[in-house]
Amino acid sequence: EGGGVMAAGGAGDPQAECGPGAGGLALLGLAPGAPSCPHGPALLFVKTSQGREEGRRFFACSACRDRRDCNFFQWEDEKVSETKLAAREEYNRSHQPSFTHRQNVERYKNFILLPLSKRRFCQECQQLLLPAEWENHSDHQFLCDISTAQLQTPSQLLYPLENKKTNAQYLFADRSCQFLLDLIIDLGFRRVLSVGTPRLHEMIQSKASQEEDFRVRSLLLDIDFRYSQFYTEDEFCHYNMFNHYFFGGEAARETCRNFLHQDNGERVIMVTDPPFGGLVEALASSFKKLMAMWKETEKEGHDNPEMPTLWIFPYFFESRILEFFPSFSMLDYQVDYDNHALYKHGKTGRRQSPVRLFTNLTPTMIVLPVEEGYRFCAICQRYVSSGNKHCEICNSCTSKDGRRWKHCVLCKKCVKP
Ligand code: SAH
Ligand code: ZN
Ligand code: ZN
Repeated sequence: EGGGVMAAGGAGDPQAECGPGAGGLALLGLAPGAPSCPHGPALLFVKTSQGREEGRRFFACSACRDRRDCNFFQWEDEKVSETKLAAREEYNRSHQPSFTHRQNVERYKNFILLPLSKRRFCQECQQLLLPAEWENHSDHQFLCDISTAQLQTPSQLLYPLENKKTNAQYLFADRSCQFLLDLIIDLGFRRVLSVGTPRLHEMIQSKASQEEDFRVRSLLLDIDFRYSQFYTEDEFCHYNMFNHYFFGGEAARETCRNFLHQDNGERVIMVTDPPFGGLVEALASSFKKLMAMWKETEKEGHDNPEMPTLWIFPYFFESRILEFFPSFSMLDYQVDYDNHALYKHGKTGRRQSPVRLFTNLTPTMIVLPVEEGYRFCAICQRYVSSGNKHCEICNSCTSKDGRRWKHCVLCKKCVKP
């Protein structure tokens, strides 16, 4: 890629510097005619200094915040030769998964016909193996006797992607996942657009296959293509939530559109738990596009202007999220994860999870578990955490982190202890 990559290296990692409060680089977003990397259209960035744009704008990968995962780089005004364009197209093609989603669905059908003793999963390739393929994986570690139960909980079979920058997968603790599902059902939703929430999706899918009167359906949108081995094209779309890119093209987009089309009171909700990088504006722009898709399919779209949404994200992004979605509010519920030591719920000395729910649903309707210490504040008309005291002066339950906050007369607001 020549000088471009070097220059980018010098400029540092754009996305990493877009975190809260960090200067350095700004995201300008999706530009018409942007070049593509294997992860879809690249995003436009610019270097900044003291809040002002400085220097040349450039395109970089939307999904990968680590250059080792995708080193796509192009100056906005760079003249790219035909040869280089052709090479790039070839590169993008060759960096797609080795099986298509369709092929993976076929493979799955064959896999479940196998007796237990022939059902293997290659841990190195993260792939279900058919007997004819065993030989090619003979020196890989594999699991055998893959049961139907295991096939229904792929998030436990696959290892969580742990690349810190690009794709850290933090899976919901069962307690949180169950809470979310109960909430969704109690609120009367019957369809869940699961954007980056494979564990919620699998909980819904496995209940749907086990309990006859379970009516909830889910469509998973996620960049982790490994899931295409376990779900049909109506259950999973390979999707990039930083640029609203459907890897499966128009057909996948149509699947999503159809899913959002609500009929006979089968209300739809979007639930999303994106990686906690700093690209809130990119996420917000994709979610707005999904919301627009919902709106355009809605038959009598009069009273409800926005698709009901639960966005799971750390509390310190509150002001950023509200900037893009003024109708949202942050709830006190602490979301816990299985594989994140720091983000576990606990009243004892352990660190509390900073992850919260942001929603455009009326907070009053969202009942938080009393057995975990949440209580209803009659003045605020919402459930708050046990440590969150109503402040008479602010006239609100002001704590953000679950600890008891104190009113400061000088600052004229409540502050952390
Ligand atoms: N708590 C959730 C998982 C959240 S981790 C659960 O248990 O279901 C973040 C999820 O977002 C992962 O599934 C990851 O694969 C997905 N993801 C990461 N980057 C993405 C991108 N650019 N587009 C779409 N999904 C992405
Ligand atoms: Zn209150
Ligand atoms: Zn103060």
